[in-house]
Amino acid sequence: METVVSGIRPTGYLHLGNYFGAVRSFVKMQDAYNCLFFIADWHSLTTHPRPEQIRQSARNILTEYLACGIDPEKATIYIQSDVPEVLELYLYFNMNIYLGELERVTTFKEKVRKQPDNVNAGLLTYPTLMAADILLHRAQKVPVGKDQEPNMEMARRCARRFNNIYGVDFFTEPESYHFSEKAVKVPGLDGSGKMGKSEGNAIYLKDDEATIRKKVMKAVTDAGPTVPDSPKPEPIQNLFDMMQIVSTPDTWNHFNDLYNTCNIRYGDMKKQLAQDINIFCAPIRERILELQADTQTLDRIARQGAERARESARQTISEVRRIIGFRS
Ligand code: AMP
Repeated sequence: METVVSGIRPTGYLHLGNYFGAVRSFVKMQDAYNCLFFIADWHSLTTHPRPEQIRQSARNILTEYLACGIDPEKATIYIQSDVPEVLELYLYFNMNIYLGELERVTTFKEKVRKQPDNVNAGLLTYPTLMAADILLHRAQKVPVGKDQEPNMEMARRCARRFNNIYGVDFFTEPESYHFSEKAVKVPGLDGSGKMGKSEGNAIYLKDDEATIRKKVMKAVTDAGPTVPDSPKPEPIQNLFDMMQIVSTPDTWNHFNDLYNTCNIRYGDMKKQLAQDINIFCAPIRERILELQADTQTLDRIARQGAERARESARQTISEVRRIIGFRS
C-alpha cells in the first residue's frame, strides 16, 4: 500500500485554504492509503511563537483534523516535535542540498520580500525539513495546495540527490496529490493572492456565521462591468473562484450570467457566498466545539500517533544510517 504524508503548521486555526488545498484530500485518502498527517510545529518556529501559543495551536489543529473527519483509527495523526527522528534526516538533506538551490526556491524569495527583518536559516531550510517530513516515512504521495509546488520540487530533489550520492534506490520521488485534477489555490478576498494566516485574510473553519458574513462583505470589488462578456479583474475573479469552491454550479452560473450581461450586484453575490461558506462550515464548527473540551482524548490520540509515527521513522533512519556508513 502506498504511503501518504502531509502536515499543517499550527499557527492558529485551519482556514478554508487549508481545508480545500489539503485537508479534504486527507479525509478522502485515509481509506485507500497508509496515511500519516502531522502538525508541523517545528516549521512554525520560523516566526518565534510563545510556548503557550504553540501548545494551544497544536491542540486546535488536532481538534480540527478530527472535526473535518480524519479518523485516528484509519490515519496516524501526530505532532511533528513528538518524532525527533525527522531532525536527523533534515540534517542529512541539508548536507546534500546547496545554498544556491535553497535561495532560488520561490516560496523562500516570497518570505524574504514579506519579512525582510526575519530571514533566518530555518526559513531557508524550510523545504529540506519538509522533504524530511515526507521521506521520513518514504511517502509516495503528498496532498498539498498549489502554493507548495516549489517545496515539493525540493523534496523530489532531496530524494534523487540522496540516491545519487550513495548509489542506492532508497527514496522514491514523492508526488503531489490533488483532490480533483488540478491543484487548488483558494484565493484571498482582499483583492489579490491566496488565502492565508500570514496574509491576514483567512476565513477560519471555526468562524461563526456573523464573522463569515463580515469577512465576505468586506471582499474587494469594483464598479462592475460596463461591456458584456468582459474579462474579470483579479479581485472579481477571486470572488468567483471562491464561489466555485463552496457553492453549487447553478449558483456560480447564475452570478456568472449576471456578470456577463452587466447586471451583477456584488452585494447580492457576497451575501450568497457568505451563506454558502456558512453552510459548509457549520457542521465542522459544531464538531470542533464538541471535541475541544475533551483534552484527555486529544492527548491520547497524539500519543498514539507519535508512537506509530516513530516506529515508521526509526525504520527509515536505521536504513539511512546504514547507507551513509553510520551504525544503524
Ligand atoms: P500552511 O498553512 O502554510 O502550513 O499550509 C498547509 C497546507 O494548506 C498546505 O498543503 C498548503 O498548500 C495548503 N494551503 C494553505 N493555504 C492555501 C490556499 N490559499 N489555497 C490552497 N491551499 C492552501
